[in-house]
Amino acid sequence: MMRKVILIRFGEIFLKGKNRGFFEKTLINNIEENLSKFNLQVEKIPGRYIVQNYDESDEYEIAEKLKKIPGIFSFSIAYAIPTNLEEIESMSVQVMQDLKGSFKVVTNRADKHTLSLNSMEISAKVGGEILKNCKNLVVDVKNPQYTLNIDIRENKETYIYQSLIYGVGGMPVGTSGSGLLLLSGGIDSPVAGFMMAKRGVKVSAVHFHSFPYTSNFAREKVEKLAKIISDYTGNLTIYMISVAKLQEQIHAHCNDSYMITLLRRAMFTIAEKLCKKYGKKMIITGESLGQVASQTIESMSVVSDVVKSTVILRPLIAFDKCETIDIAKKIGTFETSIEPFEDCCTVFLPENPIVRPELEKVLKEESKIDFNELIKESLESIEIVEIKHS
Ligand code: ATP
Ligand code: MG
Repeated sequence: MMRKVILIRFGEIFLKGKNRGFFEKTLINNIEENLSKFNLQVEKIPGRYIVQNYDESDEYEIAEKLKKIPGIFSFSIAYAIPTNLEEIESMSVQVMQDLKGSFKVVTNRADKHTLSLNSMEISAKVGGEILKNCKNLVVDVKNPQYTLNIDIRENKETYIYQSLIYGVGGMPVGTSGSGLLLLSGGIDSPVAGFMMAKRGVKVSAVHFHSFPYTSNFAREKVEKLAKIISDYTGNLTIYMISVAKLQEQIHAHCNDSYMITLLRRAMFTIAEKLCKKYGKKMIITGESLGQVASQTIESMSVVSDVVKSTVILRPLIAFDKCETIDIAKKIGTFETSIEPFEDCCTVFLPENPIVRPELEKVLKEESKIDFNELIKESLESIEIVEIKHS
C-alpha cells in the first residue's frame, strides 16, 4: 500500500489569510506548469502538496526543478502510507534497516485524532521498534547521524522521510502582479529579476541594443541569461528594442558627458510605455546605489524623473557587488554574465560621464534632439522573443 512521493512544504503562503486560496492555487499551477514535461500528478493536501506517480528515473531532475520554484520552502522524498501505527512502524523499520550508526525519530501530527498516542509517544514507540529490528543502529537524540521523520497529515495519510531539501522560498510567481525587468547582459539585472520572481512577480524583460554598433552576440547572451532565470520565473517574454539611432543623435548633437544620462532617460521612458501597453505594474532594474556614475542618487533621480506613474523597484539597491555575485553564482547566471560583450551603454561611451547631473542641464541637452520622435522610432523597432523554461 506504500507509494513513493515528493512531499512539498510551502513558505509564506500561510501568512496570507483571506488570499490563501489564490496563493495555493497559483503555486499548484506553477508546479504543474514547471513539471509539465514529466508524466506525474500534483495533488494538494491540507498544508502540503504531493507529487506522485512519477517515473523513478526522473526523480533527480524533478527535485532540481522544485528547488527553483518560488513559494516552495522545502520538500522531501517520502513514503506515503495510511495513518495506522502498525504500518508506520513497519515502514520505518524498512527505511532504516540498512543503516549503521545513530538515529532519532521526529513526529509531526497535523491530524491529532486518528492515532491515540501523541507525537512524543509515537516517536518513542517507533524508535523502539527500529532498535529491535535494526541491529546496527543506536539512539542519539542530541546529535544523530540519521533522523527519521513521520509527518501525520489530515488526509489520513502519513509521510515518512529522512531528509529535507530546501527550495528558494518566497511567494508563488503571479501573486504579486507582473513587472518589466530592464535586462542587460551584466551580472546585476538577472539577479534583480530572480529576486522579484521570488517575491511573486511575473517577470517580463526589455533589452536595449544598439545593433549594428553592438553585435548579435550581446543579444544571444541576454537570451541565454533569460533562459537560465526562466527556471525560476517561468516562461518569459523579452522585448528587444533598438536605441542605435537615439545614441547616434545624442552623440551628434548633445554634450557627450550626458550620453549615459540621456540614454537611460530614454530607456526608462520606453520601459514605462511598454508597461502601459502590456499591463505591467512595475519597472525592475539591477541598480545599486553608488556602484557607478549612473547609479548615484542624482543620476537615478534625473532618470526616474521621466517615469510618471509606474513604480520602479531596485531590489539590489543596498547590495555590495560581492553580495550580488554570490546570488548570481547560486542561481547560475554568473558564468554567462561575465562573458565579454558590448552593451549599448558602452557605445559612444563618454570619457567623463556626469556623476551628479542636474535636471535643468539635462533637459537643456535633451532639447537638442527630437526626444519624443526618437522614442517612437525605438518603440517601432520592437522584436518579441519568447523564452521557454527547459
Ligand atoms: P548590470 O550588471 O545589470 O548590467 P550594471 O552594474 O552594469 O548592471 P548599468 O549598466 O548602469 O549597471 O545598468 C544599471 C541597470 O540598468 C541594469 O541593472 C539594468 O537593469 C539596466 N540596463 C542597463 N543596460 C541595459 C540594457 N542594455 N538593456 C536593458 N536594461 C539595461
Ligand atoms: Mg551593465
